[in-house]
Amino acid sequence: MSHTYNYDLFVIGAGSGGVRASRIAASHGAKVAVAEEYRVGGTCVIRGCVPKKLFVYASQFSEEFEDAAGFGWTVGETSFSWEKLIENKDREIDRLNGIYIRNLKNSNVEIFQSRAYLKDAHTVHLVAEGRDVTADKILIATGGAAFKPDIPGIEHAITSNEAFHLTTLPKSGIVVGGGYIAVEFAGIFNGLGVETTLLYRGEKILRGFDDDLRDGLTEEMPKKGVNLVTNNDIVSIAREGDGLVATLKDGKLLRAGFIMYATGRVPNSHGLGLEALGVKLKANGAIEVDPYSQTAVPNIYAVGDVTDRAALTPIAIREGQAFAETVFNDNPIAVDHSIIPTAVFSQPELGTVGLTEAEARAQYGEIDIYKTSFRPMKHTMTGRHEKTFMKLVVDAASQRVLGVHLMGPSSGEIVQAVGIAVTMGATKKQFDQTVAVHPTAAEELVTLKEKWKAPAA
Ligand SMILES: Cc1cc2nc3c(=O)[nH]c(=O)nc-3n(C[C@H](O)[C@H](O)[C@H](O)COP(=O)(O)OP(=O)(O)OC[C@H]3O[C@@H](n4cnc5c(N)ncnc54)[C@H](O)[C@@H]3O)c2cc1C
Repeated sequence: MSHTYNYDLFVIGAGSGGVRASRIAASHGAKVAVAEEYRVGGTCVIRGCVPKKLFVYASQFSEEFEDAAGFGWTVGETSFSWEKLIENKDREIDRLNGIYIRNLKNSNVEIFQSRAYLKDAHTVHLVAEGRDVTADKILIATGGAAFKPDIPGIEHAITSNEAFHLTTLPKSGIVVGGGYIAVEFAGIFNGLGVETTLLYRGEKILRGFDDDLRDGLTEEMPKKGVNLVTNNDIVSIAREGDGLVATLKDGKLLRAGFIMYATGRVPNSHGLGLEALGVKLKANGAIEVDPYSQTAVPNIYAVGDVTDRAALTPIAIREGQAFAETVFNDNPIAVDHSIIPTAVFSQPELGTVGLTEAEARAQYGEIDIYKTSFRPMKHTMTGRHEKTFMKLVVDAASQRVLGVHLMGPSSGEIVQAVGIAVTMGATKKQFDQTVAVHPTAAEELVTLKEKWKAPAA
């Protein structure tokens, strides 16, 4: 490696992608440093996947207490302390943050607690230290940022960042957005007893997901108490006493204790000096990279949310790993983004892998659909009217299973396992050859016999 630079690799951003890339590059003998302006671990660990899932667990107890009655339990008076939840969550996040820092140090990666930007293709300016360091290769792994639209009174609204640190939990709230973060937070607040409105400007929540999952969740969320409002938007926000009042597009007023925007995230590519160096950005700010995560400037690479390929932690980790293998181990790896199993921790939960029905029809023409909808066994005793839904999208010609879409308890867990079969290119027949696990919900995936036919118009 070069001897004229301070480092072989300088990574900007110690999140999912940056941490993995740093450690793997260092394990191959590179001299590596990483700069982090906030907290090591990044969005997923500090204010994303992890605390979000902890909140989902917290929010599910209210239903569990209710459901217990059907099984003979009498649950005494219950109460919930938001302060306690935040305190315990913060302790767990501190623990994980410590582990990430230790792992980097044990891998001989130097950490700078500082914002960093590029002065030229090999020079990094460390803002907190007021000095420059140089590196042969640069990796931009700065992630994405929550986005709030520019409307009057927007300063009163929060994003998911602040939702993790509210000092008190208001009695009512509005979550704006229709993506997975919006539906997850609507479920969290609703389960914690907040009178929750999910407000989405489009026709149907969860754009990009299979239509049956979109319709399924649209039906189930209101049953749990979420006030789902679509085709509407907030045009302005004002403070009113202790709370907020939102004026909607249709002129109606909506009052709430807080308003949280989850209307998409933007790649964190600005203020890094990239444009001046010739690194190409897309219209939304995403850094353009080739399949090996190389930008238009040959020694500068980018991975994770800042490249907007698929904004998920396991993808950022894979891209970081592939970059380090390619550049520091002479082992070129291009991440395959074609089949991505993923979960939405809504209530009920969603799990999805592969093509949606609409995508499969567009790409394969003739396809077979198998689907089923049923009341989960547990709710035969609780009396809860909640549906579980499962769907297989199959290529009619090859019989390969192109997509699996699930709604119901543990869908995230189920889709991780069934994702292996879909990634391997399993056929419907191979699904059928798999022995069922009984009694489970997932056994439906290997016992679906009848092709679904659209009802006659
Ligand atoms: C509320 C929420 C829930 C989510 N839930 C899930 C989930 O359930 N499953 C899932 O797979 N994904 C989830 N995600 C997405 C996931 O968090 C991201 O895809 C992942 O963190 C991306 O990793 P990254 O390395 O690209 O960036 P990040 O993890 O965002 O890390 C980037 C880091 O760079 C730092 N940084 C930025 N600019 C600079 C600079 N100039 N100098 C120094 N440091 C800088 C930031 O502080 C940050 O720590 C969630 C995201 C959010 C917001």
